[in-house]
Amino acid sequence: MSMPAAGDALPPPRIDAARILAPRSVALIGASEDIGKFGGRILHNVLRHGFAGALLPINPNRRTVLGVPAYADIAAAPGPVDLAVIAVPAAQLAATVTACAQAGVGACVVITAQTAEFDAAGERLQREIVDIARRHGMRLVGPNCMGMISPVAGLGLTSSLTLQHVPRLIPGRVGLVSQSGALMATLFMLAHDHGGGFSRMVSVGNQADLELCDFFEALIADDRTAVICLYVEGIRDGRRFVRACARAADGGKPVLAVKAGRSDHGARAAASHTASMAGSYGDFAAACRAAGVVLMDEPEAMALVATAYDRIGDIGAGAIGMIVSSGGGGAVTADRLALADLPLAAYTEPTRAALSRHFLERHINNPVDLGSHKGVLALDVFVETIDAIVRAPEVAVVFYILTAQPLMRETAAALVDAWRTSRKPFVVVLDAGSFGDAVRDLFIDAGMPFLTRIDDGLRALALLFERRRLRAVAQRPAATRPAHASPLAAERLAALPSGRLTEPEAKALLRAYGIATPREVIADSAAAAARAAVAIGFPVVLKGLVRRIVHKSDAGLVRLGLSDAEAVRQAYAGVTAALTLAAEPAPESVSVQETACGSVELIVGARWTEYGPQVMAGFGGTLVELLRDVGFASAPVSRAAARELLAGLRLAPLFDGVRGRDRADIEAAADVIERVSWLAVDLGRQLVELDINPLIVGPRDAVAADARATLG
Ligand code: ADP
Ligand code: MG
Repeated sequence: MSMPAAGDALPPPRIDAARILAPRSVALIGASEDIGKFGGRILHNVLRHGFAGALLPINPNRRTVLGVPAYADIAAAPGPVDLAVIAVPAAQLAATVTACAQAGVGACVVITAQTAEFDAAGERLQREIVDIARRHGMRLVGPNCMGMISPVAGLGLTSSLTLQHVPRLIPGRVGLVSQSGALMATLFMLAHDHGGGFSRMVSVGNQADLELCDFFEALIADDRTAVICLYVEGIRDGRRFVRACARAADGGKPVLAVKAGRSDHGARAAASHTASMAGSYGDFAAACRAAGVVLMDEPEAMALVATAYDRIGDIGAGAIGMIVSSGGGGAVTADRLALADLPLAAYTEPTRAALSRHFLERHINNPVDLGSHKGVLALDVFVETIDAIVRAPEVAVVFYILTAQPLMRETAAALVDAWRTSRKPFVVVLDAGSFGDAVRDLFIDAGMPFLTRIDDGLRALALLFERRRLRAVAQRPAATRPAHASPLAAERLAALPSGRLTEPEAKALLRAYGIATPREVIADSAAAAARAAVAIGFPVVLKGLVRRIVHKSDAGLVRLGLSDAEAVRQAYAGVTAALTLAAEPAPESVSVQETACGSVELIVGARWTEYGPQVMAGFGGTLVELLRDVGFASAPVSRAAARELLAGLRLAPLFDGVRGRDRADIEAAADVIERVSWLAVDLGRQLVELDINPLIVGPRDAVAADARATLG
C-alpha cells in the first residue's frame, strides 16, 4: 500500500464537515437485515426515511440486503463514497478504516466504542485510526458516536431505534451537535413528540478527528439551519469556539448550549463518557454570556425550547400576557415569572375594556384566569379572551397554560387560529397529562409550537427576553480602549517579573492602566515610616509585604487606622515582628499607605482562560468567599457591559447607599473593570491571574487598596 512516509505533508481533507452533514453517497459497512445488529438498525433507519442519495450496503456474503444491491467490500463499491458508517467490533476497526481510506472514502462515521473513553488499548487504537485517516485526507466522526440524523435530507444515519418508532423525520431549522449519541436520540424523540423538528443532528463522540466546532461552524454556514443547539462535555479549542459563537451572532443564529461538568461528579462522568476533559464550567459560562450563547441547564429543555422557538419567533416591545385555566396554577407561575425577572404586562384601558365583556373589573388581572368568567361558560369566553390579549399592544408574547378544562379541544383549536392569524409570538404549555392527548395531536397536526412542562414554558420565555436583550446589546458600540490605558509596550511587558508579584509591583501595573492606588512609601525603619505617614497624611495603613503570602491580614501584616506617629512606630514594630515570624524580614518590605475611603469594597480580577481573557467583579474585601456575589465577563468589556455586570450583583443596591451609608460611584468601579479588562487583553497568556481586593469605592472614586498578580 502507498502510505506517505511520516514527515511528509499530509494530504488535504477529501471532504469537509458541511459535506459530511449532507452526503451524496453513504456506504454501510456490515449492513445487515437483522435489526438486532448495529449494521441492521442503521440500514433499516436509512431505508425507512427515504434518503435520496446513493446507499451502498457492504456485506461480503450477500448480493442484496433488504433489497438494496450490496458490495463485497468497500473497494468494490462505486465511488466516490462520501461517508462510510462503521460499527464493526474494535478488533476490526483499524483494518476497516484502512480499507475505507484506500478506497477513497471521504469520511468514516465510527460508531465503534471502547476506544479512548475506555482504556489504554482503546486510546492507542483511536490514535491509530486517526493516523490512518490523516495520512489519506480522510475525515473521521467519532469514534464512540451514534451517527447523525438529518431530517432535511431524509437521512437517519444512526443506530438509534427511535427512528423505527416515528413515521417520518420532522424537518425544522434547529441544528444540534452533541457529544453524546444517546442524548441526540433522546432529544430527537422528545422534540418529535412535541411536533418539533431539526435540520441536522450529529453526534461527535470522542472527537478524535472532527470535533464539535467543525460541525458548529458547518451549521452556522448551513442555510437550512437557523437555530443551533450544542451539548458540550469538553471544548477542544476554546478560542475557536468563541470565534464561532461570534460568527453565529453576526449571522443572527441563536445558539443554545448545555454543558456537563458543573459539579465534580458531572466532570468525572463526562471524562469517562466521551474522553473529553470537562474544563471549567465557570469559564465556559462566562464565555457563553459574552458571546451571546444561551446556556441552559437541561438538554431536554434545550431541544424542546429551541424547536418551539424556531416556530415562535422573536418578540418585540412589551411584556407577557398570560392566560390560564387554573387560578392556582396561574398564581404560582406568575410568582415564578416575577422571581425570574420575566415581566408581566400591565393591561391598558382598551385591553381592560375588551376583557370586561367576560370578566368583572376585579378579575381582570395578568394572568387572566378563564375560570373566573362572568355568566355561563361558552367557547366565546376563551376565544374573545385570547383575542383581547393578542391584540393588546402592551403584550409582546402570549403565554397560555392550557390545563384540563371544559371545551378543551375547541379552545385548543381557537388558540391555533389565533396563533395563525396574529403575528404575535405564543408560548403555549399543554399541562393536562394524558387528558390532553387529543389536543397534543391537534397541535402537532397544526404545526403549533407547544411545551408540556411549565418549566419549559418559563425557559422559552426567558429565551425570548434574552434574545431581545442580546439584540439591544448588539446595537451598542464594541468595547473601546479607555484613555490612559495604552497597551504596555513590548519591552515593558518583557521586563515584568514572572511568578507572583508583590502588592507594589501589582499596583504599578494597575497604574499603567490608569487605575488609582493609594499613595504609598516603602519604609526601612520605624522613623522612616513615621515620616512617610506625616507626608501622606493620617490616618495611614501599614503593611508587611511577603511575596509568597496571599492573605497578609491573616499573618498579622496589615495595620489600619494609624492616626499618629506613635501608632505608626508601634505598628512598624508589630509588622516587622510578624515579618520575622513569616521568615522574610527584609527591611524594604514595609509599606506605609494612604487610607482609601469608601463605603463599598469590591473584588476585581482577571485571568487567562481557555476561552481567552476573562474578568471577574463582585463584592469583595475579606468577606469575598462568604459573600459569593461575583460576575464574570470576557475581556475586553465596554463600560456599559461593566456597569451591567455590577448592576446584576445581589448586593448592587449598596451602590445607592443603604441605611445611612454613603453612595458608591458605580461608574468609577465600572471604569476600573474596563481598564482591568484591557490589561488582561494586552497581557494575554502572560496573565495567569490578577486580583484587586479590595477596590474601595467612594462617592466619587474607586481606589485599588490591595492587588496581587501572578504572571506566566
Ligand atoms: P490581604 O492581603 O489580607 O488581602 P489587604 O491589603 O487587602 O490585605 O488589607 C486587608 C483589608 O484592609 C482590606 O480588605 C481593606 O479593608 C483594608 N485596607 C487595606 N489597605 C487599605 C488602604 N490603603 N486603605 C483603606 N483600607 C485598606
Ligand atoms: Mg486584599
